[in-house]
Amino acid sequence: MVFIEVIGHAAAALAFAFLTGFVIMRRRKLARTLSRNATIAYRAILIVSSTVALIHAYYAVDSILFGNALSPSDPLYVALHSPALIALSIVLLFLVSVKLVAERSPRPRRILAIGAHPDDLEIACGATLAKLRDAGHDVYAVVLTCGEAGGDPATRLYEAHHGASFLDVNGVEVLNFNDTALAEQVNEITRAIESRIRDYKPDIIPTHSAHDQHQDHLAVHQATLRAARNHSAILCYESPSVTRDFQPTFFVDVDGYLDVKIESIRTHADQRGKPYVSPERVRGIAVFRGGQAKTRYAEGFEVVRALASALGDI
Ligand SMILES: [Zn+2]
Repeated sequence: MVFIEVIGHAAAALAFAFLTGFVIMRRRKLARTLSRNATIAYRAILIVSSTVALIHAYYAVDSILFGNALSPSDPLYVALHSPALIALSIVLLFLVSVKLVAERSPRPRRILAIGAHPDDLEIACGATLAKLRDAGHDVYAVVLTCGEAGGDPATRLYEAHHGASFLDVNGVEVLNFNDTALAEQVNEITRAIESRIRDYKPDIIPTHSAHDQHQDHLAVHQATLRAARNHSAILCYESPSVTRDFQPTFFVDVDGYLDVKIESIRTHADQRGKPYVSPERVRGIAVFRGGQAKTRYAEGFEVVRALASALGDI
C-alpha cells in the first residue's frame, strides 16, 4: 500500500517535470531566459530532483523494512517533504527572477542574416541575433540549402526552423539550392538574395566571410556582395571554416547570450557529432574574440562596409 503511494509520488513528480518541460519548450522566451543561465538552472533542477528522490527512497525504505507508514498529517511526513518544496520554490524563484539581458533599442533596425546551411547562422552569430531580437530589432534569416550533403534534408529543414524559432528571429526562409554546389549557382543565388533584400529592406546584412575555405560559404559571400551592392552595412561573421586570414574588426558583446547560442546550436541534433559544435569550442571562440574586443565574450565580424546611421546603436 505504502509502496503504491511512493510510486504515485514518483509518477506525480515525473508528470510535473514533463509539464514544466512542455511549457518551457512552448514558450520560446521562457526557454531562452532559462537557457541564458542553463548551467546554473540544470544544477538547481538536479539538486531538487536528487532531494526529492532521496526523500522518497528514505520514505520507501522506512515503510517497507520497518513498517513505519507515514500519513500526510504526520509531522515527519511534512518534515521530509519540506526540503523538496523549499528547493522547488528556489528553482521557481530563480526562473522568475532571471531578466532579459539586452536593453531595448530606441532605434530598431532591420537585419537580414544570410547563411548557406541550416546551422551556419546559429554557429557563427547566434548570440548576436538573439541579443538583437531581445533589444527589439527585427531579424530575418535566409538559408540557401537544406544541407542535404551533410545530413537528412527533412530533419535539417525542421532544425533550421527550430533553431531560428529558438533565437526568436522574425522569420526564416530555407531555399532549395544544391548543397556543396552553390559556386555553380551564384547568379541564381544573387537574384534570390536581391528579391529578399527588396522584401525585407534590411539596414544590416550579416553573411559569410571572403576568408572561408568552404566553397558554399564563399559563393554566398560573393552573391550577397553583388545583391547588396547598394547597401550600407554588410558584416561578415565567423564560421568554423574561416581561414587564418579572417580578421574581425567589429565585435558584438554577447555576455549573457553564450548559453542561448549553445542551446540554439543544440537544436541542430543532426550535426551533433561535428567537433565545431561542442560547447567547449563555441565558448573558446567567444572568449578569444572577447579578449580581442576587451570584453568577456564577443562574436567577431569583418566589415565590408558599415555606415554609422545604418548600424544605429547595435
Ligand atoms: Zn555552412
